[in-house]
Amino acid sequence: MPVRVLLKETGEEGFVNVKASSISVTLNRVPVFTFDLEGRLLFAYMGDRTFARGLDNRVLEKRGEWTVFGRHRVRREVEGEEKRALLNGIHRRIERVLQALQAGAIIPLGEPAPDALSQAARALKKIASYDHEALEADRRRFFSIYKPVTILPPDQYLTLVLQATEGCPYNQCSFCHFYKGRPFRVKTEEEFKQHILAVKAFFGEALKLRRSLFLGDANALVAPQERLLRFFDLANEAFPASTGIYAFMDAFSARKPSKAFEALARRNLKRVYIGVETGHEELLKLLNKPGSAEEAKQVIISLKEGGTNVGVIIMLGIGGNRYVHHHVEQTVRLLNALPLGEGDLLYFSPLVEHPGSEYAKRAAALGIGPLTEEEMREQGEAIKAGLRFAGPSRPKLSTYDIREFLY
Ligand code: SF4
Repeated sequence: MPVRVLLKETGEEGFVNVKASSISVTLNRVPVFTFDLEGRLLFAYMGDRTFARGLDNRVLEKRGEWTVFGRHRVRREVEGEEKRALLNGIHRRIERVLQALQAGAIIPLGEPAPDALSQAARALKKIASYDHEALEADRRRFFSIYKPVTILPPDQYLTLVLQATEGCPYNQCSFCHFYKGRPFRVKTEEEFKQHILAVKAFFGEALKLRRSLFLGDANALVAPQERLLRFFDLANEAFPASTGIYAFMDAFSARKPSKAFEALARRNLKRVYIGVETGHEELLKLLNKPGSAEEAKQVIISLKEGGTNVGVIIMLGIGGNRYVHHHVEQTVRLLNALPLGEGDLLYFSPLVEHPGSEYAKRAAALGIGPLTEEEMREQGEAIKAGLRFAGPSRPKLSTYDIREFLY
């Protein structure tokens, strides 16, 4: 039940809304802060600036900026003293509202429900327990349970990650830095059970915000089938209300017959995300990605026959100016041969080139010039323009910008 109050001392209008899965606090309409039900900050909207905070206590600022070329999205990580000041500033504002509520130094606006003021005070008390230092301690607790969660698909940013495996069994794609230095391993059943218990204790009430389950890391489905089925059973037993289980998979190391996927679909596997990247074989080599476009197609067909939806990820800008047209042509050809429909996702992910990466070295050696953001956007539009889906059922098309990710 939302509560609106006027703080007698400062004249500010406070609005506290304790919802089913989160808490939002507004002061004089702006800023708007959103927290999970344990009181951890998730988002802060402060007029022209928006901040998102992850469980690893990273803070990203996102804002739109006008240039002569139009409006651009600017992202930057807030660090050091600036982050401390930001988090402690939010904390002080929350404390002010809490103290006013506790001291009765407020004028209720409207007619709050009988227990609304005490419910708002309880929520604010939880939030007020997290200043910058406490959020840092929470980050350390997070890392005692998790290896860094380095990437998730955009529709899964608010999922509950369960790390059944760690790292990527291949780990050699020339553009990918997500799991560098993390040896691949599959957890034992006992380890996974303990992980689930620790995850439950860490999230507490905040679990209400996490409706789906994501089996991490990069390729959990590569685990031996028997163990995988146990992982699914354990996850389903622990979180019976989840909306489903999701996972990444590469198209070359987790080849399974559709019957194996069928068994996972019966255990609530809803969608598998595959970094297909391109339909062009030469580009796959530049990316150091094993397997062919045809093999990726066969894996997607097996998944679909097994009753699971797919999220296909296509990269934009790979192969730069040299491959710009080949990438479009061959990717359109591949995508049009896939059985994609409702429930599937087709993501377009702009290349983020890391200086010193294997991809950057190979591209430089071949004299490949990078595409600009605008050229990548145009490449995405050219691919979309070539798509012809069989039948009326269509996948959802969306952008997948890895720079936006926080867990
Ligand atoms: S298979 Fe995926 S996670 Fe592994 S290195 Fe390649 S892109 Fe990265």
